[in-house]
Amino acid sequence: MLIKKNIFFALIFTLFSVSLQAQNPIIRGIFSTDPAPIVYHDTVFLYTGHDTASVTATNYKMPDWHVFSSTDMVNWKDYGAVLSPHTFSWATGDAYASQCIERNGKFYWYVATFHKKDSISNGGAAIGVAVSDRPTGPFKDAIGKALITNEMTTDMKYGWDDIDPTVFVDDDGQAYLFWGNGSCKWIKLKENMVEEDGPITTFKPKHYIEGPWVYKRKDLYYLLYSGAGTKPEMIEYCTARNIRGPWTYRGIIEGNVSNSFTTHTGVIDYKGETYFFYHNGDLPTGGSYRRSVCVDYMHYNEDGTIQKIVQTKQGVAAVK
Ligand code: CA
Repeated sequence: MLIKKNIFFALIFTLFSVSLQAQNPIIRGIFSTDPAPIVYHDTVFLYTGHDTASVTATNYKMPDWHVFSSTDMVNWKDYGAVLSPHTFSWATGDAYASQCIERNGKFYWYVATFHKKDSISNGGAAIGVAVSDRPTGPFKDAIGKALITNEMTTDMKYGWDDIDPTVFVDDDGQAYLFWGNGSCKWIKLKENMVEEDGPITTFKPKHYIEGPWVYKRKDLYYLLYSGAGTKPEMIEYCTARNIRGPWTYRGIIEGNVSNSFTTHTGVIDYKGETYFFYHNGDLPTGGSYRRSVCVDYMHYNEDGTIQKIVQTKQGVAAVK
């Protein structure tokens, strides 16, 4: 009888602790940044950075990357600091933006961090890749070295332009890595997802700053990015009929976010809706160095262009 009573109270507690409506920011236990969502086996996995700078800090402090999951877009489970620059023997410094994708049952997590000064690189930002058999890890360095070092691109004359990787596998199986601050750069990846295949191409979409996010919808390629807009950053985008370009500028889809001069996007389709992830500085004591991930709906027009994102406090409704 006692056991039945406990089950009854556990059930009641569960019913009342599950929210039906998100609240932006959706991640409230830590300061989280640079959202990169994927859908795998009917679950959304959300990969983020982690801001730990003090309230008075004037620069980033980003020690690790976290993974969250949800099956209703409202209740998010935190798997903790699953990956950090310490995972990579060649890396030092902060955990900048990242994206994880699944291919052939393995999860490849591309990350921006910084390279130690050694015989391979003179330092500066670099891109590494970690691999796991599961979306939540454990992850290990896939190749034991950086995939992209600062020296591999020279169009920008500073040391932190090789950041913000996004990865896309086209219908024909060809994988592409896009990244970059100041200019957008891309390269083909081999099927093993950890070796470059061919030269690096660089180009400058209108207003481009950083944070590219590439995907395909109905034969149209999309390149969303953090752009200068009217400053601070906004999300702008281009489309193309060929992933190698030319890219046509399509405008601003997200205006300034509150209390943060950066923003950064990731987009997924899930259970019949399109979701636009971004970050702002809206948690209590938040700011440009203490950011938080949010999500709102994204809608397309008939011609494939994207409607302006409406940023809300209430967030999105739960889906079954
Ligand atoms: Ca460079």
